[in-house]
Amino acid sequence: MYMDILEKDKNLFLSTYNRLPLNIDFGQGVHLFDKEGNRYLDFFSGLAVNALGYAHPRIVQAVADQISKFAHLSNNYITDIQIEFTELLLKYAKMSKAFLTNSGTESIEGAIKLIRKKFGPDKKIFALTDSFHGRTYGALSLTGRQKYKTGFEPLLPNISYINFNDVADLEKKIDNDTAAIFLELIQGEGGINLVSQDLITKIIELKKRYSFLIVADEIQSGIGRTGRPFAYNHFNLSPDIVVVAKAIGGGLPLGAFLVSPEISDVFEIGKHGTTFGGNPVSCAAGKVVLEVVFESGLMNEVAELGDYFFNQLLEIKKMFPGDIKDVRGKGFMIGIELSYECSDIVKEMREKKVLVNCTNKNVIRILPPLISTKSDIDFFLFNLHETLKTKNNK
Ligand code: PLP
Repeated sequence: MYMDILEKDKNLFLSTYNRLPLNIDFGQGVHLFDKEGNRYLDFFSGLAVNALGYAHPRIVQAVADQISKFAHLSNNYITDIQIEFTELLLKYAKMSKAFLTNSGTESIEGAIKLIRKKFGPDKKIFALTDSFHGRTYGALSLTGRQKYKTGFEPLLPNISYINFNDVADLEKKIDNDTAAIFLELIQGEGGINLVSQDLITKIIELKKRYSFLIVADEIQSGIGRTGRPFAYNHFNLSPDIVVVAKAIGGGLPLGAFLVSPEISDVFEIGKHGTTFGGNPVSCAAGKVVLEVVFESGLMNEVAELGDYFFNQLLEIKKMFPGDIKDVRGKGFMIGIELSYECSDIVKEMREKKVLVNCTNKNVIRILPPLISTKSDIDFFLFNLHETLKTKNNK
């Protein structure tokens, strides 16, 4: 039965995805149910999208209410729901103005356009090695990981990279010709790598001298995932541009780039636009996400439970030093670096009805829904422990 849809997948779609062998029927809370009635604990939550899990009653209601009024009007109109959503988003990001999009990569594109418009074509834009900023041409040009770029060159000119956490490299490369630096403060795709406070301190110091813009790519790490509103809140950093997507739409396509007052008039009317960006139904879901994460205490629970989760993982690391090389992350954004490729462990966990993702070949990436409880975490820990125990006894 499942083979049928895998066969159809091959016939119908360009082969860009490595599909999981599950035929999902529906989701509820932190669980996914397949057509055979199996229940899975979903600890990668649509790659950090489903922050409130599946079928959250308030999201379902908000979407139904909005879609029964209008699903789409076009950006020739501004609507109450877009305003209510954006007021909350700007308030928690402490930014001045927003442009709403449909996705992460599109938000990055908008930020690049704003930077180019402000500084012209010749000034350099930097990102960090191992970063991931998206798949469209501008965002791909910024992405540090070569494997995503091979075959698609030439990419945008005047984009270069700072070696990850290399303060000396930063000092060498940043100068008067710098327009901006893009930062994923906790690299997701790259393997849950935390930017060092030393690098951030030096960037802030250099910004005073050279007046470039700091862009925080919070597409994966934002909206409470790390136990703070945004990952930059861990670093005492005030970015000039904040880019969000993924969790912000409660499962519907939505993204945004947010700017500081100093650059809020770079675009004039007609200089940037989108048909679907800021869709009212997505904004209705997004408003619920912001209210639940930031105003009901959920983010504080993520911070507390994230510490518990992290410490328990360190205990497991002590028990299996030959398997686990490192545990990294903050809140509910955690990477377990294995000393071997993680595909077998991910498969074994799936057989135990726990879903996790593997990134950068040997890092188990855990991105649980923010509504996960201690008992969900304990279920995960128990099964990871069992999986490693069985592997070591073989
Ligand atoms: N930036 C980061 C940090 C991401 O994690 C992603 C997606 O994984 C993107 C950008 C691209 O977002 P999207 O897939 O919505 O285009």
